[in-house]
Amino acid sequence: MNNFEYQNPTKILFGKDQIENISKEIPNKAKVLLLYGGGSIKKNGIYEQVTKALKGFEVVEFGGIPANPEYAVLMDALKIIKEQKITFLLAVGGGSVIDGTKFLSSAALYKGDTPWDILTENIRTTSGMPFGTVLTLPATGSEMNSGAVITREETKEKLAMGGPGLFPQFSVLDPTVIQSIPKRQLANGITDAFTHVLEQYMTYPINALLQDRISESILQTLIEVAPKVMKDPKDYKAAADFMWSCTMALNGLIQKGVPTDWAVHAIGHELTALYGIDHARTLAVIAPSHYRYNFEAKKEKLAQYAERVWNITEGSVDEKAKQAIVRTEMFFNGLGIDTKLSDYTRDYMGTAQEISRRFTVRGWNTLGEHKNLSPSDVEKIVTMAY
Ligand code: NAP
Ligand code: FE
Repeated sequence: MNNFEYQNPTKILFGKDQIENISKEIPNKAKVLLLYGGGSIKKNGIYEQVTKALKGFEVVEFGGIPANPEYAVLMDALKIIKEQKITFLLAVGGGSVIDGTKFLSSAALYKGDTPWDILTENIRTTSGMPFGTVLTLPATGSEMNSGAVITREETKEKLAMGGPGLFPQFSVLDPTVIQSIPKRQLANGITDAFTHVLEQYMTYPINALLQDRISESILQTLIEVAPKVMKDPKDYKAAADFMWSCTMALNGLIQKGVPTDWAVHAIGHELTALYGIDHARTLAVIAPSHYRYNFEAKKEKLAQYAERVWNITEGSVDEKAKQAIVRTEMFFNGLGIDTKLSDYTRDYMGTAQEISRRFTVRGWNTLGEHKNLSPSDVEKIVTMAY
């Protein structure tokens, strides 16, 4: 295992009826900005639970943060934060609302003129405006990590930001919230969390036994609960395992002491920026091609994953590794998720060249766990995903 430091300050309130406890986690005199998305919380009862729990606090609301949180919309919220002298942010939503809130947490204390620079200039946030979250969609892990991804429609960009100042102070994980999530979003959540684990696992073996087994157990749990959650989101046991698996997949724990990849996300973000394809679906498009293209570098771990997660015990390392990629595609397909770019857009010709061009402009030429993937490799991976 490699050396590492690990600190995760986010307090988790897990389980039924935990929303009512948020008042204990917010400073008494706080002026709260309640942030939410397109309005699902007003239909499923979560808004009522949250506003009831916030009784006694001074609360201002900002709704309308879209899926793939949009910079222009967030800049409207930033104006309110400054005008109304907000001191605490409360995100009620999925990854988009939480990521948007992280951007605001950073931008609220940012001294520069243009908060977009935080994203383009890779400015790490060491302290931000304090915030908490009520998670309504298990998927991203954003509720217990310090990263965010922000979209700018004007320039068709989707860029990441982060820093130790961007951990939520607390996050409520109530598994009953999944009852109102549309099937498409449930499938996205399973796929996103699954791929988060793969990004931190599908590299090369360094014999970090425990880290590997934690990752494998999250993958196995997601595979086991996926059909239950898709069939009956009221199944509390399955919902609880699903929700906690998504959080554990990206709260920093499994990446400690091991190499990580993240090329699938870097490339996938471009597909969302260009075509508006749901985040998780872009990962399902890129991951199989990425693993096929980098087969030699990843085959040991692919074969280990084949054996331990998919129970494929017959065949050579190469055979097992190949089977593992096919099983992964079948898993995504079984959730109703297509794994080729042409399934999502007819306009895909030239995509590989465009993404490769963007990576060249940004100087992104050291992708993957070996830091050896150049924009021309990215072009080949995306072409394989057509
Ligand atoms: P999302 O974009 O937050 O939400 C997708 C849709 O699901 C929205 O329409 C939302 O409605 C709806 N929804 C959420 N909870 C619901 C509920 N309980 N009942 C009914 N509908 C509900 O989805 P997400 O997958 O969680 O987040 C995706 C974003 O996170 C992407 O921008 C992605 O790049 C980013 N991401 C971040 C990280 C990270 O570590 N920070 C990791 C991976 C991905 P409303 O609009 O009404 O809320
Ligand atoms: Fe993701």
